Formats: sequence, structure tokens, C-alpha cells
Amino acid sequence: MALTGLLLVLCAAVGMVVNQLQAQSEKRAQAEAIQTAHIVADLVVRRNIDPADITGTFPIREQERADMDADVAVMLRRDRIVGLEVWRNDGSLLYADKDHPAGETDLPADELRMLERPGAEVLVINGSRRGSDTLDIFLPYETAPSSSRSPRARGIVEVLTPRDAVAAGVARSTRSLYALAVVFLAVLVAVLLVLRRRLLLREHQALHDSLTGLLNRVALREQLRQAVVRAQQDHGALAALLVLDLDGFKAVNDTLGHPAGDALLIQVAQTLRRSLRPTDVVARFGGDEFAVLLTHLPDAASAQSISSQLLAKLRAGSYTVHGIELAVDASIGIALIPEHGKDTDLLVQRADVAMYQAKRANSGVTVYDETTDPHDVTQLGLLVELRRAIEQDELVLHYQPKARLDTRDLQGVEALVRWQHPARGLLGPDKFVPLAEHTGLMQPLTEWVLHRAIHQAALWRDLGLMLPVAVNLSPRSLLDGDLAATVLTALADANLPAHLLELEITETAIMTDPDRAVVVLRHLNAMGIRVAIDDFGVGYTSLNYLKSLPVHTLKIDRAFITHMLSDRKDQAIAESVIGLAHKLGLSVLAEGIETEDVWQRLKDLNCDEGQGYYLARPMPADQLAAWVRTHLAVVSSTPTAPARTIDEAAR
Ligand code: C2E
Ligand code: MG
Ligand code: MG
Repeated sequence: MALTGLLLVLCAAVGMVVNQLQAQSEKRAQAEAIQTAHIVADLVVRRNIDPADITGTFPIREQERADMDADVAVMLRRDRIVGLEVWRNDGSLLYADKDHPAGETDLPADELRMLERPGAEVLVINGSRRGSDTLDIFLPYETAPSSSRSPRARGIVEVLTPRDAVAAGVARSTRSLYALAVVFLAVLVAVLLVLRRRLLLREHQALHDSLTGLLNRVALREQLRQAVVRAQQDHGALAALLVLDLDGFKAVNDTLGHPAGDALLIQVAQTLRRSLRPTDVVARFGGDEFAVLLTHLPDAASAQSISSQLLAKLRAGSYTVHGIELAVDASIGIALIPEHGKDTDLLVQRADVAMYQAKRANSGVTVYDETTDPHDVTQLGLLVELRRAIEQDELVLHYQPKARLDTRDLQGVEALVRWQHPARGLLGPDKFVPLAEHTGLMQPLTEWVLHRAIHQAALWRDLGLMLPVAVNLSPRSLLDGDLAATVLTALADANLPAHLLELEITETAIMTDPDRAVVVLRHLNAMGIRVAIDDFGVGYTSLNYLKSLPVHTLKIDRAFITHMLSDRKDQAIAESVIGLAHKLGLSVLAEGIETEDVWQRLKDLNCDEGQGYYLARPMPADQLAAWVRTHLAVVSSTPTAPARTIDEAAR
């Protein structure tokens, strides 16, 4: 647009210059004609006509006319003039060439008056002769300078010069001027186009990723800024920022080399672009990290469903590098605009946090949640407080019983941590365990839970209650090199036998570093500690590892249990896991049993143990003893479920 404007201005300027030059060359042509007239007056008229004839009243002498005619003929032949007339001062005709119209014997009064004006030296008039246009030059003609002895006589010499020649000269020079101008403009346009191309290229490079051609981080930030502005101006406008990171990309680079990695990134970029609407913005942040800006979303849930579809398309895509077909998987973190921030940096950071959470949990897609964000300001404050809480015993453990499904015999309790926060009240583990997991607080937290749970089990033992206690381990604690030593010390401090301690480990924890997990678990197993895989079914345990892991129990995640009577697929999964566990020689526990019917169904399916609100909610230690007494009374009064002592159950 700017270029077109500039060109228009340039064309106008060139047009003005050409007009100016044309006017000048017309003036020059006229000056040349006047000069010709002066020469003719000097060489032809002055040479041939006696001054006395001009002032007199007699016709021109024959000899003079003949001489004049001869000279005029030469001039006509050479096209210097078209005609010549000599007028007396009173306007009567003294001499005219042969083509002069016979009737014109007097100079028109207008022209005579103009020439008589004081100071008038020359008069130029457009005329015509023999069918061609002429420039008629009228010169006041003085027969002799006033100082000469001859009498001073005035007349008028009219020289008719060919206007065609003048016009042709002007046209020629105008044509060459135009040609020059066109060449100049063409060169200018070419230069401007080259400059514009370079500018566009530089602009493109500044805003695009050179490998994939997608937008880069800078360009995405600008788009994000505009989305934030739109969201602020139009309160219904909803957008979402997705940060997408490929899983296992490093392995491609390491095993197949960087060119292969680059080729895969290009194919991934193409799949992403193809899978989204044209209005969605796709960018590469660098490495194997991409970002997508979804705009004009109808609601927050659609951000998640679009992300899941995108992930599915990415996984389903076919990627061939160096003739090898590669599988692609990724994790997506979502930050909603404006819900999760109105600042571009903050939105990017939050989508990033969500993406890392998706990666850790193997969940594919995760929407940002400030309660689990270690970078959140309130979370940072909480972090400082959590450190203090661990040191000052603000944490508490609640215990949730587990029982055999058939006899309802108590099998033990699971220790679940809570934080009795001075201002916020009792906080569940979801509010602070992930926070500890992402910062250095997981180790002290686990140590605290281990010591407190083992101490409590020892207290119950001292009361005659042999109640095995299960402690949850986070992925980080499992990989902590000091774990076995910490457990041993805690058991030794409380003088508790190892078989009264059980450790619960999630699939994610095992699969974070399976080889290391196997080593640590073997070590714990050798110490006589029972190990359960927690939340089984929602993570990705390789069956190959499951075969070799020294674990005793699979705890089926409550996601498959709670609604299993209304969801046949849940029930099918629960049934399969029970069968798998038994075939591998493992005991199986169902979590999240909330109703009698589910309890019965699981019993029929041969599940070994159960845990859930139906049996008991997690409760503080001091309530547990009373609960156990009541439970034993209920169990012993039920004929189908013969009561046993807690000691027996524990064994
Ligand atoms: P988990 O180990 O699977 O613990 C079971 C969770 O399910 C507990 O939630 C429990 O209250 C809840 N639950 C039990 N029965 C039912 C039921 O019938 N219905 C429903 N809807 N829920 C039931 P809680 O205490 O909020 O703990 C959540 C998770 O936090 C635990 O899941 C565990 O992964 C983690 N956690 C708790 N304490 C600790 C700890 O000391 N260390 C570590 N690393 N993680 C812990
Ligand atoms: Mg657990
Ligand atoms: Mg669980």
C-alpha cells in the first residue's frame, strides 16, 4: 500500500518535470524561430531592399523583388521559412512571397497596434500557409541605426516559420523525456520491489521458525497479546493457549541424529497445521516444543476437547524419517484466556506448568490448575508455610481401613496426610503434596509421614492392635537414594517389625525410572516390607515390568470401581485386573467402594480386599481404635463373616 502511494507520488512528480521540460523546449523552439526571423531580416530584407522603398509610397522595384524572390526561394527550399512579407510602417504591404494571399494588402490593425506598443520587439502568432501550421514572427524593422547618416525608417518584417518542424522538435524532445522518465520509473520500481522483497523476507524471518515455517515465539506472543486485548474488550471472548511438547523426542535425536529429528519436527508441524482451523495460530517455541492459540472458543471445555482431538490426530499421524516409521506422542498444557491470566508471559508460564504436569502424570492433556502450580504466588507462600508445617508438626495423618471382601476382616490401614493449616483449615493432600513434589520438600514430608505412621502403628501394637499401616510414596521419594535407609531408621526407632509396614507406589512413580524402581523395590522387599501398586489402571505400567516387580498387591484405581455397576466397561476392566493380578500371584484390592452392592459385586469377582467410604472414611488415629471395636463387633455378629482378632487379621 505504501509502495503504491510512493509510486503515485513519483509518477506525479515525473509528470510535472516532463511538463516543465516540454514547456521549456517549446520556448526554445520559439526562440529559434525568432532568431531565424532576425537572420532573414538581416540577410534577405536588409540586403535586397533599399531603405528608401520602405519609407516611400512606391511599389518595390522589379530588381529588388527579383532578388528577394531568389533568396526567399532558397530559404523555402531549405524549409527554413514558409513565407516572407515586408510591411511598411503604416501597415501597407511592400513585398510578399508568391504564396501570399492576393487580397491581404494591409497588416491587420490588431497586429499593427501590438507592434506599435512602446518596447514591443517581436510578435509571435500562430498562423497557417499552404495547409501547414506556421509560427508567424513579426519584427519591427529598422532600416538603419539612428546614428547612421541614412534616414531612419521603420517597417515590419513578417517571417513565416514552419510550426511542424518546431512541433516535431518539441515532440522529439518530449518523447525522449518521456522515455527517460519511463526508464527512470522502471528502474525505481525495480529497486523498490527488490527492497520490498528483502524487507518482507527479513520480516518473515523475524517472525517465523526457520525449520518448520511456523510462527516463532515472538510472533505468538503478539497474537497472544491481541487475544488478551480481545478478551478484555469483549467479555464473552474466550481463547486458550496450548503448549505442546513431544514425548521421547530426545531419543530420536540421540539415536537417528539431528537431521532426522529436524525431519520429524517438520512432519509434526505439518500435522499440527492440518489438524487445526485456519484461524488457530500454530507456533514453534524451539526444540520439540510447540504452541497453539485457539481463539473464538464457545466454552472452556472445548479447549480441552480440541486439545484431546489434536493429540489424537498427532498420535494417529504417520511419520517416516530415513525410511523408518516413527510413533509420535506428546503432552499438552492448557492456559485459558482470560481465566488464567491477562499477561502473555504469565499465560505462557502457566500453559508450560500444565504441560509438565501432563507429562509427569502421563495424562496427555492438562488444564492449568493454580492449586498445583509451584510457581503460583499463593503457592510460593504456601511452600514457605509447608516447610514450617513439617518442622512444627502441623501435619496430621488420617487412617483409612482396608478389609477382606469376603470376611470383612481388617487388613490394615492406609495413612493419608492432611495439613491442619492455621488459617485455611484442614487441607487435603491434593493442595500441597504436588507442591512438595515439585520443590525440595518431598523428602522431609515423606520422612515425616513414615515416622508418624510407623510411630502410630507401634502405639497400636502396644495396645494389642496389630494393624499394618500403608504409607504412600511419591515418584520422587521412590527414586530417593536414601529411601531404604530412612525406612529402616524409622522402623528401628519405633521398634516395629517390617511386615507391619506397607508402601504404596503409583504406576507413574515406577515408570519414571523403571530400572531404578526395580532395584529400590527389591531392596525394600528384602527388608520384609510389603509393596502395593496404587491407583492401578490409570497410569501406564509396562506388563513386562509388572512381571518382574517385587510387589504384593495391585490396588485398582477407584475410577474403575465407584461406578462399576452402571458402567460395564469399568466392571470389565476391574474383572480383568483381578484375573491378571491373581495369575501373576498378586493380591488385589479395590479402592473407592462406596456402596454395599459394589462391595458384593467385587466379592463375587474374587477381589481380595476392599477400601472405601462404604467401609470407612479416613479418620484421625484417636477415632480409629473406637471404629475398630465397633467393626469387630459388627463382623463377629455376622454369620457369613467370622470374626478374627486384629492380631490374626494382621498375620
Ligand atoms: P490414594 O493413595 O489413592 O488414596 C486414596 C484416596 O482416595 C484418599 O484421598 C481417600 O480419601 C480417597 N478415598 C478413599 N475411599 C474413597 C471412596 O470410597 N470414594 C472416594 N471418592 N474417595 C475415596 P486423599 O486422602 O485425598 O488422598 C489423595 C491422594 O493423595 C492419595 O491417593 C495419595 O496418592 C496422595 N497422598 C495422600 N497422603 C500421602 C502421603 O502421605 N504421601 C504421598 N506421597 N501421597 C499422599
Ligand atoms: Mg494410596
Ligand atoms: Mg489410590
